[in-house]
Amino acid sequence: MLEHCAHARYVWNLAVEQHAHRRKDKAHYRPDGRQYGAPGFAEQCHQLTEARRENAWLGAGNADVQQQALKDFAKAKNAKFTSGFGEPTWRRKYRHEGFRVIGTDRVPEFESDGSPKLNAKGKQVMGRSVVIHKLNRRWAQVKVPGCGWVRFRLTRTELPDAKTFRITFRNNQWHIAFAVIPDPIAAPATGEVIGIDRGVTITAALSDGRKLNCPQLTTKERARIRKHQRRAARAPKGSEHKTAEYAKAARLKARETNRRKDWCEKTSTMLARTCGLVRFEKLNIKNMTASAKGTVEQPGRQVRQKAGLNRAILAQGWGLLRQRTEHKAPGRVEDVPAPYTSLRCSACGWIEKNSRKSQAEFVCVSCGFTCNADTNASRNVAVGQGGIPRPRRQAGTGGVTAATGRSSAREPQPTPVGIPLV
Ligand SMILES: [Zn+2]
Repeated sequence: MLEHCAHARYVWNLAVEQHAHRRKDKAHYRPDGRQYGAPGFAEQCHQLTEARRENAWLGAGNADVQQQALKDFAKAKNAKFTSGFGEPTWRRKYRHEGFRVIGTDRVPEFESDGSPKLNAKGKQVMGRSVVIHKLNRRWAQVKVPGCGWVRFRLTRTELPDAKTFRITFRNNQWHIAFAVIPDPIAAPATGEVIGIDRGVTITAALSDGRKLNCPQLTTKERARIRKHQRRAARAPKGSEHKTAEYAKAARLKARETNRRKDWCEKTSTMLARTCGLVRFEKLNIKNMTASAKGTVEQPGRQVRQKAGLNRAILAQGWGLLRQRTEHKAPGRVEDVPAPYTSLRCSACGWIEKNSRKSQAEFVCVSCGFTCNADTNASRNVAVGQGGIPRPRRQAGTGGVTAATGRSSAREPQPTPVGIPLV
């Protein structure tokens, strides 16, 4: 299977190179200034056949696996504006190991109304299907070309009805994923609207007062990671010991990712099942986690602190939670503008910085409403109320907020304590 991974990666990277080369090379411009197109999927398949004939290593591999890599590339290329991943890029050994297998079984295809699907000549169209044998309640097996039957652990009660599946090798573990798009989860009859405020201290505060936390590594596990990293750092360069220690640290780190993913899946399913409409505050996580490093000429300040905060933000799985909720409840997820959601009083609508006493405490200076700061923010999100972009000039109930630019309504900023950094 590692050989399949190598072939798939090699073919993918060739495709990347072809497209990158065609984009840059001036020689590929026609006299009228238009660009010659990079080879499409069909042309690449012909080229692959030629390459397999000339290259013994590639020829020894499975043609379907290699062709599916090209198909994956074509799909990634077409979806570069919508997938969120952008232009397909290089795959690296040990990091992006995986390949797609197309099912060997042929089954008749049907139209959506149940009538058999016919081609132009009036013949039945046959589709591909994966053959899965269930061995017992826990285990099933699937046929992988060149490897025979491969067993895998069942994580669902029903067997998937898939045309293809993908095998990946991550963190020393083999994974199998069947390409099936499940039906969206139906909305509950109550039509409840829920707002979610995402934060670092509380991963997701819900407007009904629940506080959900994404599991992270325990202190002991973090200490173990540091231990292995320390041992690796002290081991002689290029030694087996060094590699082994780094591998141990990597395995522990993978645990955190697995936990986060698991939590996001479970939480998003819960949200899709119990809530009619889910509102998130709109966060630009990419901008929020931008490095503070700066340039050589203008180095940034508090780079280490910002890096730590970025790590904490990314460890919460904010983006994944929203994305998976959207997948499971399409059309029932909304984004609410984030500014001032944490400073607005959810009871009277007053926006003032002083209302937020600390990270956790919210006491409205106008009406005296007291609440957990994150719950207050999520209530604002639930009603779709970010706030006005600047403090209001007119007095509401309970006094005038100074209308000086941004001075009054800002998120609480950290106050420097202890030894000054500069
Ligand atoms: Zn209030």
